[in-house]
Amino acid sequence: MNRVSWRRGTERMADEARPSDHPARWWSLLADGRLECRLCPRNCKLQDGQRGFCFVRQRTGDALVLTTYGRSSGFCVDPIEKKPLNHFLPGTSVLSFGTAGCNLGCRFCQNWDISKAREFDRLGEAAGPDQIAAAARRLGCRSVAFTYNDPVIFAEYAIDVAQACRDRGVRTVAVTAGYIGVEARAEFFRAMDAANVDLKGFTEGFYHRLCFAELQPVLDTLVYLKRETDVWFEVTTLLIPGENDSPEEIDRASDWYAANLGPDVPWHFTAFHPDFKMLDKPPTPPATLTRARAIARSKGLRYVYCGNVHDREGGSTTCPSCGAVLIERDWY
Ligand code: SF4
Repeated sequence: MNRVSWRRGTERMADEARPSDHPARWWSLLADGRLECRLCPRNCKLQDGQRGFCFVRQRTGDALVLTTYGRSSGFCVDPIEKKPLNHFLPGTSVLSFGTAGCNLGCRFCQNWDISKAREFDRLGEAAGPDQIAAAARRLGCRSVAFTYNDPVIFAEYAIDVAQACRDRGVRTVAVTAGYIGVEARAEFFRAMDAANVDLKGFTEGFYHRLCFAELQPVLDTLVYLKRETDVWFEVTTLLIPGENDSPEEIDRASDWYAANLGPDVPWHFTAFHPDFKMLDKPPTPPATLTRARAIARSKGLRYVYCGNVHDREGGSTTCPSCGAVLIERDWY
């Protein structure tokens, strides 16, 4: 990961970062005086001054504002395979950035210092859409990724950045949990060229207990992407020992995947490392990833990968007809 200095060269990215009061969308006032945000399925209902579960959307008077518009927790140049995307501009660099907050509450979060940020001390960089798009060009990045925390919660900012990127021929990638309201998702994904969507587990119990969320809206987003958009998307499942890695669960998930997404949507099984509020679980054994990959492939899925580990076979892309290796990878 190469941290990027915005003050490089002659271009200065922005002045000092400050909280924004950018007008937010996808909300309405309720008859009882509360304001309801419909950007994600939580539908937070807010009194004046209250923030939503994601912390970055706040009611101010009779309006909702996005407090992180134009503000970032940092920028990095990454390989696109790190998002992970194996079938979208392979071998190219992507300019990655995120903001703060999240609309899920995953106990195993691997980016918790950013996603759980409650203050803006993580947001050291201020950058407008045009500046980000120009910087991607300057740094030789073919795409910009909204990542580290979920771009759904800063959708207004992500959409504006995506539009500025399109104007300059730079693609955009949403790395997301897919936890987005029906009203907002069409506009959000229309702006994106690619996405990696987390399918964190395949039971409502897992989503309730460990993510404080629901599975069904995520499945709805995946089906929506497949049936109603041209967005290139791949799916990631972080396998956590004893929580979502049983052969039975992978089997059921693979059946659903094949029936609803078809054989050609890439699926990444990635290794968990103890983090945040889940320090009592061991790292995922590589054999668990290999087993999950074998189950998914047995259902006819053609592009199933093992990630976060050294595994040449599990990381490489092969021809589904003859088995020849088309792109060989080891980790990224
Ligand atoms: S985007 Fe944030 S404020 Fe809006 S419903 Fe989701 S968690 Fe609540």
